[in-house]
Amino acid sequence: AIPLVVAISTAISAQKGLLIRNRTAFEEARKITAMVFDKTGTLTEGEFGVTRVKVLTGGADEAAFLRMVAALEQQSQHPIAQGIVRKAKKRKLDLPAISNFQSITGKGVSATIDGKQVLVVSPGYLKENGIEQPQDAYGSGAETVVFVLVDGQLAGYVALADKIREDSKDAVRRLQEAGIKVYMATGDNRKVADAVASELGLDGVYAEVLPEQKVNVVKDLQKQGAFVAMTGDGVNDAPALAQANVGIAVGSGTDVAAETADIILVNSKPTDITNLVEFGKATYRKMI
Ligand code: ADP
Ligand code: MG
Repeated sequence: AIPLVVAISTAISAQKGLLIRNRTAFEEARKITAMVFDKTGTLTEGEFGVTRVKVLTGGADEAAFLRMVAALEQQSQHPIAQGIVRKAKKRKLDLPAISNFQSITGKGVSATIDGKQVLVVSPGYLKENGIEQPQDAYGSGAETVVFVLVDGQLAGYVALADKIREDSKDAVRRLQEAGIKVYMATGDNRKVADAVASELGLDGVYAEVLPEQKVNVVKDLQKQGAFVAMTGDGVNDAPALAQANVGIAVGSGTDVAAETADIILVNSKPTDITNLVEFGKATYRKMI
């Protein structure tokens, strides 16, 4: 039989924007001492607007560059990709045909355009391949920057901006009041990560994390004695969600993440997690 407390909590949680997949997850929620959020689409809106386009190779104009990048990104579901495609559409650029499209999970995308191999990738990918980031890549603001490689050569970059979610600050503060340390792990650059961390008053931040490193973030905190909850949305997040004491898949994420998770955060709202933790603690207090 399903224990009454689990039945009640599951019903209440469904109203609160949470789907509990693992019956013990609710009980575990009250033990959480470290919460690791992903950034894009969870702490932030995940709605990117293009702020700057930079062409580094001589000769090529900006429209041609953006057309090429958008043609590639049209095949991707990533919020960064959607921001780039929106920009190209606004400028009424028609997009060339591409072939051999491939998604490099958590790192970027690649395809063949006009016989050339084009990649749009993260700062972590550049680092991993020993490619120096251009000096001017990061402006004064906290921007997300993706880099364009054509036949292995850095051809330019696109800078984008996202917004912190309205309720993230409240969620973080309340978790901290419940004695939980709040962290963020992101594949995005250090500058954006630090800006979000400082705005939200986070206890720590892991930036430029490659997908295969996300599981190490969880292990690292566990080694320090923490009982770790982690959110994730991608295929690449599944190992980290499995390693976490409580794995939380965000609503818009992939099936793989959802299948691995203990909890599904239906509306991707961080306050829904805060509610769960507060509710979990209150419920068990009553039972004792
Ligand atoms: P986050 O860690 O913020 O959730 P992801 O794991 O989804 O981000 O992706 C990590 C990084 O990989 C992004 O910040 C971006 O630099 C790069 N990336 C992923 N998908 C794409 C894409 N379609 N186009 C360009 N860059 C991408
Ligand atoms: Mg992600």
